[in-house]
Amino acid sequence: HNHIDQATPEKVQAAIAAGDTHAHLPDYQAFDAYVAEGGYESLKAMRDNGDWQAVQENVLSAGLRGLGGAGFPSGRKWGFVRANAGPRYLAVNGDEGEPGTFKDRYYLERTPHLFLEGMLIAAWAVEAETCFIYMRDEYPAVLEILRREIVALEGAGLVAPGYIDLRRGAGAYICGEESAMIESIEGKRGLPRHRPPFVAQVGIFDRPTLVHNVETLYWVARICREGPQILNSVEKNGRKGLRSYSVSGRVAKPGVYLLPAGSTILDVIDAAGGMAEGHSFKAYQPGGPSSGLLPSHIDDVPLDFDTLQPLGSFIGSAAVVVLSDKDTARDAALNMLRFFEDESCGQCTPCRAGCEKAVQLMQAERWDTDLLEDLCQVMVDASICGLGQAAPNPIRLVMKHFADEI
Ligand code: SF4
Repeated sequence: HNHIDQATPEKVQAAIAAGDTHAHLPDYQAFDAYVAEGGYESLKAMRDNGDWQAVQENVLSAGLRGLGGAGFPSGRKWGFVRANAGPRYLAVNGDEGEPGTFKDRYYLERTPHLFLEGMLIAAWAVEAETCFIYMRDEYPAVLEILRREIVALEGAGLVAPGYIDLRRGAGAYICGEESAMIESIEGKRGLPRHRPPFVAQVGIFDRPTLVHNVETLYWVARICREGPQILNSVEKNGRKGLRSYSVSGRVAKPGVYLLPAGSTILDVIDAAGGMAEGHSFKAYQPGGPSSGLLPSHIDDVPLDFDTLQPLGSFIGSAAVVVLSDKDTARDAALNMLRFFEDESCGQCTPCRAGCEKAVQLMQAERWDTDLLEDLCQVMVDASICGLGQAAPNPIRLVMKHFADEI
């Protein structure tokens, strides 16, 4: 298991004593070390005489799907973007605003060049003119690492100066939605767009745009170097591949755990050192607040793409938050809806007014379940983007599984 090393005052002091003027930076693999172990060989070989469709085939056979939350097969996106005339762009979604998600940060603070090489391979595959990296501003160490390592890439002649355009997000959750992110990159307010047209056709500055999550690109580089079997040879409970679960809440050791995609909540809690002392397992958020809350007795379902839909949930970005007997599901769901109320971009009424109304109704001692269900249905049917469409999930799941609390 990979587990995050927390920065401690002792570690920072030791770094300062050792003369590191950037003591806030974690100990990551910089450009020279990455190249020494074969880094950028895949990219160079592809640029020399690669066949993009052979690379696409590798990515497809690995079973790689978008790891930002939507889970679309990554290789297929390349074909959609290439089907549209250039100039084309690549945009990396590094906003990672889903509460409980910190896996992208985990990889970027350790092996940033696996991500950067994966990004340049994808950019090569779709002949992107520019790569925009939209990075969460609340990750100052990551921004500093990327600034330094992009300079190293330019110095080594692997990219032309300016080819990688690093942009800072300003803390809006909605800017993790791909079309809102694109608006933000264009310098506008981050309001999600109607689809169609899809961003593969009409993206940044109306050009075809390939959008990938950070971790997806990390795996592209690894698949190209180590082969598709690093993912497709792993099997558990009928599911293939690996998932990076960001685990927090009432567990003994919160952190990022790389586990088979067929893992259940019990496997994930086990990897995180079991429940925290004095807590017994009650409920869990399987993939960010949009995925709602499931009760502890649903413990044999693989936490993977597609497996949770019949339960009214989904895996999203695999942000698992574990609740215990010391928590109530109704308070957790109310907290989630307050978050959505705060982060709704306000563009459409079902979401803007719906989240606000839901928060009011959920504060009542007894929930008006008929009215809440009506509200949920309107939000699902009529919201423009995934925020408003998925915001009812926590409400519905609490009404279904935790009726005694409401
Ligand atoms: Fe904005 Fe919510 Fe409508 Fe999405 S659903 S466009 S976040 S108001």
